[in-house]
Amino acid sequence: MTDPDYIRSYYAATANDQTRYPALEGTVKADVCVIGGGFSGVATALTLAERGRSVVLLEAKRIGWGASGRNGGQMIGGISGEATIKQQLGEAGAKLVRDIRYRGHEIIEGRIAKYGIACDLKYGWMEVAARPRHMNHMRDYVEDRIKDGDGGGLEIVEADAMPSVLGTTSYYGGYIDRRSGHLHPLNLCRGEANAAASLGVKIFENSPAINLSGGAKPWVQTDRGRVEAQTIVIGGEIFNRFGQRGLKGLMLPAGSYIIATEPLTGAETATVDPQNLAVADSNIVLDYYRMSADRRMLFGGRCNYTNRDPPDIAAVMRPRMVEVFPQLKDVRVEFAWGGTIAIVVNRVPAIGRLQPNLYYLQGYSGHGVNATHIAAEIVSDAICGQTEQFDLFERIKHVRLPLSEVAGNYVLALGMLYYRIRDLL
Ligand SMILES: Cc1cc2nc3c(=O)[nH]c(=O)nc-3n(C[C@H](O)[C@H](O)[C@H](O)COP(=O)(O)OP(=O)(O)OC[C@H]3O[C@@H](n4cnc5c(N)ncnc54)[C@H](O)[C@@H]3O)c2cc1C
Repeated sequence: MTDPDYIRSYYAATANDQTRYPALEGTVKADVCVIGGGFSGVATALTLAERGRSVVLLEAKRIGWGASGRNGGQMIGGISGEATIKQQLGEAGAKLVRDIRYRGHEIIEGRIAKYGIACDLKYGWMEVAARPRHMNHMRDYVEDRIKDGDGGGLEIVEADAMPSVLGTTSYYGGYIDRRSGHLHPLNLCRGEANAAASLGVKIFENSPAINLSGGAKPWVQTDRGRVEAQTIVIGGEIFNRFGQRGLKGLMLPAGSYIIATEPLTGAETATVDPQNLAVADSNIVLDYYRMSADRRMLFGGRCNYTNRDPPDIAAVMRPRMVEVFPQLKDVRVEFAWGGTIAIVVNRVPAIGRLQPNLYYLQGYSGHGVNATHIAAEIVSDAICGQTEQFDLFERIKHVRLPLSEVAGNYVLALGMLYYRIRDLL
């Protein structure tokens, strides 16, 4: 049964853990206070606890309430903004991109094994070409990846081989990454939170941080409590709620939406996605989909360019799904939900420090299941004194949008419309 504290989604309805953590009352002390109970915050708290740090984790609502508990569940190699990283940092950037490409996967796999987290991890992810010219980019991309030594799990699928891979005529080919895959993100996030709690992390739900200070004696204030710590981490896509100047204008919120059908029969599944791949198309304003463990089609994408939540998500998303898979035209939609993606203008996740003991990690531009875990490790490394990869992220020049709170919605809506028109050309 869906916990009413979460939005109604397929994930909340199939959550396999109902642990509730208390709200913070009074003052607690810790080495590190992490704000945000999504993947960024939870993975940071767990990594630091594994390294012997005492940690308090504050979540405004429930663990996994934000994007981490609502997303497409696609665990995709690499991070967004790789081209910018290489362009700005040269060979050091190229090495960084290579070194971290599957680091998030390794962290997630390690935790699933170590802490026995049941989250339906399955392997196989595919990017499909929505335009003929996208196939040329994919061939070049796969060739580069093979040069990087990633060849083992990668295969190009030409257009004539597509029918054996996906039951749709919508694409011009694609490539499969067998090292990537898909999972139940809310169960992963909650499983990692429970693992962190088992190592002594003090988790507080329904405890939004309302103010904070770095400096000589860092503290974080909630409604009824206070955390005193040596280090503070703003862990995740928290959208500048603290008026921290350094973070203003860095991320823009964009809606993304998913529908989940009723469970398909085995025969239906075989006509749609016989290899159980997670799929994303090559448009910038893209469709993404996969089968859930109980064989529902989870079909996601953006359903308008106004950047406002549509009143009836299913009414907009269902025709998109049927356009790609006409064989699903009579299948019922049982869940429809949305969430917020944090878009960074240059697409590189924002990982940095506002003061010597005030860190942040956020802004994965819709590619955060693995990237949050990579960022959490990089920030944890820095807190523990190993700053090599963190320093590289701090060197990235980000574009900030002045007046983002006022004009951001319109800027993003225009940007999305521009990209949609470009996708269609
Ligand atoms: C619909 C959708 C589909 C997506 N699909 C994919 C996908 O298939 N693959 C992929 O890799 N990525 C995907 N993403 C992106 C991915 O989900 C995010 O990048 C990732 O979950 C971000 O995690 P986070 O911890 O940084 O942020 P969040 O998960 O949003 O967590 C932030 C948390 O902070 C809490 N919070 C906010 N303010 C405060 C405060 N003041 N005090 C305390 N807590 C606070 C929030 O309640 C929230 O729980 C998708 C995103 C969406 C929305």
